[in-house]
Amino acid sequence: MSSSIGERIAKIRAQLPTSVRLIAVTKQVPAEVIRVAYKAGIRDFGENRVQEAIAKQKELQDLSPNVTWHLIGHLQSNKAKKALENFSWIHSVDNLKLAQRLNELAKQLGVTPNVCLQVKILPDPNKSGWSVPQLLADLPALNCCQNLQIQGLMTIPPLNLKDAEILDVFNRTRELAQKINEQNWSHIHMQQLSMGMSGDYQLAVQAGATMVRLGTILFGERPG
Ligand SMILES: *Cc1c(COP(=O)(O)O)cnc(C)c1O
Repeated sequence: MSSSIGERIAKIRAQLPTSVRLIAVTKQVPAEVIRVAYKAGIRDFGENRVQEAIAKQKELQDLSPNVTWHLIGHLQSNKAKKALENFSWIHSVDNLKLAQRLNELAKQLGVTPNVCLQVKILPDPNKSGWSVPQLLADLPALNCCQNLQIQGLMTIPPLNLKDAEILDVFNRTRELAQKINEQNWSHIHMQQLSMGMSGDYQLAVQAGATMVRLGTILFGERPG
């Protein structure tokens, strides 16, 4: 990529509807490059590992009043407390036990984190997340997690799908959120759809994504 990070951010921002929140995924991206993205206008940053994020957040403390950190990677239960202390959004809540643990800890810490429930529209052995039937079955228990602000759904389509199939996954995610909303839960309001990465964000936006999570297209290929 020959263009600068600032140019790439400006180009993508200009393509996205203003209602779509652009989350810059900064895993494996050093703090000084995050600073460049900040200067180019990014205020939402996504990380997939709690420890890596905390180290960079320390280096970027001066930005912290203006920045929102999103945890987007699988969260192990033993890191749940650290995650709550360092992220205001968790997109990757992927099972009921984790949701209940986060709810308990959030109560103790006096925080009300924003969360998305990660769902697998198609079976995918390589990804964590609820199956659709399991998520529907767990809604009564999730509705009791009063310390969590359950904001919506997150999904990642399986690898190697055709565009039409990816679009279908995203459309079905939106329809699932709608179906859940029609059940009128007191504490579950699906307003956010966190879907779309560098390779498929345009399809996600077409299907109604409200948050896209972009790494490679902004910062280049990650090593490894
Ligand atoms: C790495 C990652 C992204 C960004 O992926 P790119 O293809 O680099 O844009 C988005 N979401 C999740 C959950 C990720 O782990």
